[in-house]
Amino acid sequence: IIKALNVNKYFGDFQALKNISLEVRHGEVMCVIGPSGSGKSTFLRCINQLERIDSGGIWVDDELVGYRMDGKKLYPLNDRQIARQRLKTGMVFQRFNLFPDKTALENIIEGPCQVLLRPVKEAKEEAIALLERVGLAHKRDAYPMELSGGQQQRVAIARALAMKPKLMLFDEPTSALDPEMVGEVLAVMRSLAAEGMTMIVVTHELGFAREVANRVVFMDEGGIIESGNPEDVLLNPQNPRTQNFISAVL
Ligand code: ATP
Ligand code: MG
Repeated sequence: IIKALNVNKYFGDFQALKNISLEVRHGEVMCVIGPSGSGKSTFLRCINQLERIDSGGIWVDDELVGYRMDGKKLYPLNDRQIARQRLKTGMVFQRFNLFPDKTALENIIEGPCQVLLRPVKEAKEEAIALLERVGLAHKRDAYPMELSGGQQQRVAIARALAMKPKLMLFDEPTSALDPEMVGEVLAVMRSLAAEGMTMIVVTHELGFAREVANRVVFMDEGGIIESGNPEDVLLNPQNPRTQNFISAVL
């Protein structure tokens, strides 16, 4: 459902992504690990068109991202077409970006009502079901500042799911949390994976990666250094850079 082929991305002279190629199939979970500055967030942002790639191609749900192919020529999509493509992808960031002046429920129905133009009553019913799914039905009327970091992050996941994305991107969703709240967020992600959601998860939680991922990718300096099944990459890495990184994180 996601395919990247020879993706290159520059910021000025600096090459942030180097020839990234990978594939994630429907229902698969891919975990991306790697040191700070290795290009993990940049790659997710390119999938979601928060950044534009300089060469190569990314396909989401069999659609070339950001371009329209006409005969042999490529034409960039306009903003409306990009917005439509972006709806296929839900994204959860390290910092929970909830609207501070809206309750949990209001945060979740905002996208469905404003963007998808769903009737408020239906959107609310779905939002309540989503809040139940992330274990927060009792917090529907709480404002973000009244919620713990872990609870806010679970609302953020529910809010992304309310848009009915075909795939979910997580960028270090637990790394800003106090340790005791990491587990509750990982549990929601684990159940999402078990329900068959296609996910790319950037994380330093190697235990989660080992347990949930179908594939683990190790990135360093903008490139994919090693990728494979979790046991191979995490327990028996072949590349010295992967070995160093894993022993440093553990
Ligand atoms: P971290 O684990 O710290 O989140 P990361 O792997 O997500 O790191 P990226 O945020 O993708 O790394 O950044 C990759 C490189 O690209 C870094 O060297 C960063 O400084 C650079 N970079 C990212 N965004 C920009 C930008 N908008 N302009 C210039 N350089 C950028
Ligand atoms: Mg990052």
